[in-house]
Amino acid sequence: MRIDKLLANVGYGSRKDVKKMLKTGVVKADGEVIKDPKIHVNPDEQHVTVNGEKIEYKEFVYLIMNKPAGYLSATEDELQETVIDLLEMEDAVCQPFPVGRLDKDTEGLLLLTNDGQLSHQLLSPKKHVPKTYYATILGSVTEEDIEAFKKGVELDDGYVTKPADLEILTSGNQSTIHITITEGKYHQVKRMFESVGKKVTYLKRISMGPIKLDEDELKIGEYRELTEDEIELLR
Ligand code: URA
Repeated sequence: MRIDKLLANVGYGSRKDVKKMLKTGVVKADGEVIKDPKIHVNPDEQHVTVNGEKIEYKEFVYLIMNKPAGYLSATEDELQETVIDLLEMEDAVCQPFPVGRLDKDTEGLLLLTNDGQLSHQLLSPKKHVPKTYYATILGSVTEEDIEAFKKGVELDDGYVTKPADLEILTSGNQSTIHITITEGKYHQVKRMFESVGKKVTYLKRISMGPIKLDEDELKIGEYRELTEDEIELLR
């Protein structure tokens, strides 16, 4: 990889900034000063340093975020803020993207990565990766709703959902529930409740496959890298 690309990728600014930095002689590969931005280096095999500090280059980044409401699950938008705007510069330079989408007003567990293969696997309808949500519902959620969701309900476009697991936490004028679905149709949870005459007033994803959101550890708007063990579990 070209040295200017590597340094830009790990957060040393634009290629132009990096070119200027290289001219000052602070960058070395295996002890030799590199000033030419076109020089190729292999960060896995060579000891590349800036001001004596080793460059840690990782091809892939895997993040878990506790998404706040009000942010789009997209990489960019002309008018609205996206989840990428919540990332620190050094994470953003790896160009992660959200694994699937949460609605703008939905909170909770969102994975972000630049590993297209893993993202594809997690979203593949063939994989049936379970996603669990906590929701508050306007109206009383009943045993009939549990049965209906187990069988599959017809959405407004005629699509019949795959079996979903609904658990009632509290029932009343406002109910609270957990729902686990294995697909990801547009506004799926909201539309499933609409199909039984109820309205989702708050929605938060609490798990995706083996990864669970720990809200004590990760407050709303915060994110962290997945551990090696968590990444393995996802594969
Ligand atoms: N279902 C929805 O309706 N919205 C989401 O954000 C996720 C699942």
